[in-house]
Amino acid sequence: MRKNNPNSLVVAIDGPAGAGKSTIAKMVAAKLGLKYIDTGAMYRALTLKALTTGIDCDDAAGLMELLAQSKFEFPVANNVGSPAILLDGRDVSALIRLPEVSQKVSRVALVPEVRRELVRIQREQAAGGGIVMDGRDIGTVVLPEADVKIFLTASLEERARRRYIELQRKGLPATLEQIKKEIAERDKLDQERKDSPLQAASDAICIDTTGFSPEEIVTQIIHLCAERGER
Ligand code: C5P
Repeated sequence: MRKNNPNSLVVAIDGPAGAGKSTIAKMVAAKLGLKYIDTGAMYRALTLKALTTGIDCDDAAGLMELLAQSKFEFPVANNVGSPAILLDGRDVSALIRLPEVSQKVSRVALVPEVRRELVRIQREQAAGGGIVMDGRDIGTVVLPEADVKIFLTASLEERARRRYIELQRKGLPATLEQIKKEIAERDKLDQERKDSPLQAASDAICIDTTGFSPEEIVTQIIHLCAERGER
């Protein structure tokens, strides 16, 4: 952060699937007037494009070709419901949450070439600061110099329950058991991959969101941001 300029604050929020990252990151960004970038949406958008064009999720060369032809845009969120991501000019925020995408995304995210290119784009987006970015490797790899690093967790049961409610609300079919299995598999792939695995940065503040409302967690993070801004 540039000295005494809260508008250039950089906030990194990491954590496993369903820990509440995007809901909370979006709310923090809106409250502080910062830009919000959901990096998981980028991995999901590429996965969606691979599925619709018939590219295998392990095909590094094919995925890189797709990436070279792709344009990601992040409309500034002026309310919590605004689209998280445009892929090639189209709002794909709903499509990237489909179960087919959730099941394949962590395989795409294993490909080192894909990670390198997406990290480059993410850093470009964060240049100049004034941003809240959420993902798996933001505090460790993408923005290691972030002013505030948060690692959100919650029990597997709670995370699966939240995803279930979210999908039900959107009218997407799924059972609680299916979601729990899918999240556990995704956690395992994300934690065990060699390249930038899911882990808390050594200087991250870990917050367990189990049993807390998003508002309560947001208040805690805003407080941490204010403290950081005063140093
Ligand atoms: O955050 P979300 O659950 O939408 O992310 C989908 C997947 O994208 C994760 O399970 C992970 O495999 C991948 N991802 C990643 N690095 C990030 C963000 C997401 O590997 N920074």
